[in-house]
Order: sequence, then structure tokens, then C-alpha cells
Amino acid sequence: MLRLPRCLRVAPRAPPAPWAQSRHFAVVRHDWKREEIGDIYHQPLLELVFQAASVHRQFFDPKEVQQSTLLSIKTGGCGENCGYCSQSQSFKTSVKPTHMMKVDEVLEAARKAKDAGSTRFCMGTAWRGVGQKNSFQHILTMVKEVSGMGMETCCTLGLLNAEQAKQLKDAGLTAYNHNLDTSPEHYPNIVSTRTYADRLETLANVREAGISVCCGGILGIAETQEDRIGLIHTLATLPEHPESVPINALVPIEGTPLGDRQIKMGTAVTWRDMVRSIATARIVMPQSMVRLSAGRMEFSQEAQAMMFMAGANSIFTGDKLLTTANPKFSEETGWAEELQRRCADAAMFEALGLRGKKPFTGPTAHLRPHWADRAVGSELPMGTVQGTTVSGPREVAF
Ligand code: SF4
Repeated sequence: MLRLPRCLRVAPRAPPAPWAQSRHFAVVRHDWKREEIGDIYHQPLLELVFQAASVHRQFFDPKEVQQSTLLSIKTGGCGENCGYCSQSQSFKTSVKPTHMMKVDEVLEAARKAKDAGSTRFCMGTAWRGVGQKNSFQHILTMVKEVSGMGMETCCTLGLLNAEQAKQLKDAGLTAYNHNLDTSPEHYPNIVSTRTYADRLETLANVREAGISVCCGGILGIAETQEDRIGLIHTLATLPEHPESVPINALVPIEGTPLGDRQIKMGTAVTWRDMVRSIATARIVMPQSMVRLSAGRMEFSQEAQAMMFMAGANSIFTGDKLLTTANPKFSEETGWAEELQRRCADAAMFEALGLRGKKPFTGPTAHLRPHWADRAVGSELPMGTVQGTTVSGPREVAF
């Protein structure tokens, strides 16, 4: 028998190590154990990112990133006491309460957001819940009109009962944002004017009405790693995974208990914290959009690139995030600041080979109201801003 020289002999193939056995192929599960999620979360960082990136490609086109714009339509004076929030009337901050914006003003802002490439428009109010407020009727009009522009719509209005959720659905609402913030155990340390159960009840009402749920949390609110795992576990064991999972990094606001704590301790959320949470959320909720939300501007483009690699596929763009973070369009700064930021985002998209997600595709494909304008879409990729205009995305080869 012919014997091959030693250097050409192939050793019998060993079975794959347990950690390499098909774990990069995800199935959608709702029966996660907290320990399992902990094991995923605590992996070596690059291994975690690789696993998340593999799962991401199983369910999404990794080149697509949703761009959402968030507008505070009623700012400040909120009766709740969320310890991170500049809009709570319990804390002395620089935020001045305002009345509800007029419908026309909101629609103008939505048009601007659409022209600049956003495909989802989110409207937020600082109050405990909709209650019996007349302004709810104005919000229903806003939702109907914005969805008529062909944009996905989202609201964050606090606690919502079943009837209000149904009215929002009938008005064409795509998604409702209601964050759980952190783990059930840590939640009472963050807010005392409502309970985790209150939040879960609103989420159930939203789901029941057929509106997609947007629900995530905040890093940097004096939580432990176990709290981060606990939050992701709660989300991943809901009857349906949220359609969107925002992962926020606390933007510390002077005058708020948690903002002051972070400023005093100098313990900002690191990019590694963000990557770890984003990647874990991506793996255990593989069909959800994972949104890189508040605090994004604190991270370099390299760090953001790692977050996209870890499975983030949605960002907030636009004037501001309620009261913080994204540079705002204002009379003092005009378009300059906003333009600068959009240029930076457009350049980052181009450098990373990313493009904008079309509205009503993927997880929201079935939610387009029949009155939405199909002909006009802000469906082009975000492009490099030319000259002094921020609109008019250009073709980019991918
Ligand atoms: S986070 Fe929302 S509910 Fe909490 S204080 Fe701020 S505006 Fe009110």
C-alpha cells in the first residue's frame, strides 16, 4: 500500500468543539433562561460580536440601517420621576415645559425628517399617560397625516389603555415605544411613581391592538451587568419579541439623580458595554430591529461600526432626541449643527457601506396603512451631503 509522506497525511477530523456547534444559527425562542442569556453576554467580546453578526445575517440584510427621527411634541413638566429624565417636574433641570405642538408644526418637522432620509417619525410627550386629554385627538391626527406621507409612525405617550391603543392603531400607528429601562429588580431604584407591571400592561395593550412594540433600556443608570441581562431576558421572553429594541446610553443631565451621579463618578457607558448589550439582544431576539439610540454621539465612528457589526440596524437621526444628545436645529445654530451631524452620518454610512432601510419592509411590512402614499418614498440610501443641502440622497454603489 502506498504510504503518503508524513507532510501530506491528513489527520482524522476531530468533532467540532461544543462551542463551535451550529450555535451561530438562531431560532426565534421565547423560553430563554436568564443563565443562558448570561452565558451569551459574558462571552469574550469578539466571539460575541462574531456570533451576533452571524445571526444578524440570517435574518436581515446587514447593509440596511433604519433611520428614525424623534420629536418631542410636548416637553417637560412630567409628573413621573424617572431618575435619568430632564423632563420630570421632580427635578430641577434646564428644560422648560412647553405646550403641545400644533399639528402643522409637527407635520412640517416630519416633512423635513423625510426629506433628510428618515423613514420612521416618532412623537414623544412628557406625561404619565394619555388619560382623558383632548390633545390625544391631535395626536391621532398627527399619526394619520404622517403615515399618509409614507413614513412609519411611532409614539411614546406613556401609559396607554386598550381603547387608546386601538384608536392609535386605527389612526395608522406603526409602533409604540415604551421602554422597560432595566431589570425588574432594579426598576424601583429608577422610578417610584409607577411599576414594572404598569409598563408590561401597556405593552400588552399595544400588542393586543396590533401595533408593533418598541421597547428597550438604558445603560448607565447605576445598573449591574446582571440588570442588563435581566432586561434582555424580560424582553426576550415576552409573548412576542419587540419589533424594535432601543439600547440607550445615559446622557447625563445635571439636576437629575442619575445624571448627577454619573457626572460625579465620571463613569460613562463604554463602547464595550454597548456592544455587549447590542450583540446579546441581537442573538436572543434575532428578528427584532436593534436600535443604537440615545448617547450615540458620545461614541466614535469606529465604535459605532463595531455596534453595527454586533447587530444594531437602526439609529436615530435628526434634530434631537427629545431634549438631549443629537445636536438640534434651532434659531441660534440654524442648520449648521444639524448639517454637520448629517454630513458625519452620511459619511459614516458611505464608509461602512450602509444604506437606509425602506419604510414598511422587514418586520413592519404588514403595517402600512392603506392610505399611505406608496408613490413618494424616502426610500433612498442616506448619501453624502453635497454643498449646503442635506436632502437629495445620492446613489451609492454597494
Ligand atoms: S422618562 Fe418619560 S415618563 Fe419618565 S419623567 Fe421623563 S417624560 Fe416623564
